[in-house]
Amino acid sequence: MAKLESLDDLFVDELRDLYNAESQLVKALPKMAEAASSPDLRNALEEHLNQTKNQIDRLDKVFKSLDVPVRGKECVGMKGIIREGQEVLKGSAAPAVKDAGIITAAQKTEHYEIAGYGSACAFAERLGYGEQAKLLKQNLSEEKKADELLTKIAERHVNKEAKRGE
Ligand code: FE
Ligand code: ZN
Ligand code: FE
Repeated sequence: MAKLESLDDLFVDELRDLYNAESQLVKALPKMAEAASSPDLRNALEEHLNQTKNQIDRLDKVFKSLDVPVRGKECVGMKGIIREGQEVLKGSAAPAVKDAGIITAAQKTEHYEIAGYGSACAFAERLGYGEQAKLLKQNLSEEKKADELLTKIAERHVNKEAKRGE
């Protein structure tokens, strides 16, 4: 592990964690979308896949503007969250029950990212990196919106259908 002696070091370390977490999600989101039965859930996951690719581009810009190498560092947190989610994907369940499980798994990934971007934004601001903070805030707000949309889908219909065993 790299030495974390300063807030700058911690900031770059967090960016690398997020960069790798996003890369893992680019692989995981299509599988989640494919396993979803509800069209709105599938759309939300596919839309977030596109956003995720954009988020990686923004992180790229942040690394380059700081003049540090563009690279991630294995995010074991996201690895664990995705692995848990795979149990839902592989398991046999009524379609709406599976969808409710996919929403749970996806929201766990969003919450992890929200925590990471929240801290990274605060560090960027504290360090005087205004331009970088702006880019990170865009990612943060997309994660929050993705999370809210998943809540809406669950509350609008998926949980009701799951309760009926559909
Ligand atoms: Fe993301
Ligand atoms: Zn991580
Ligand atoms: Fe996300």
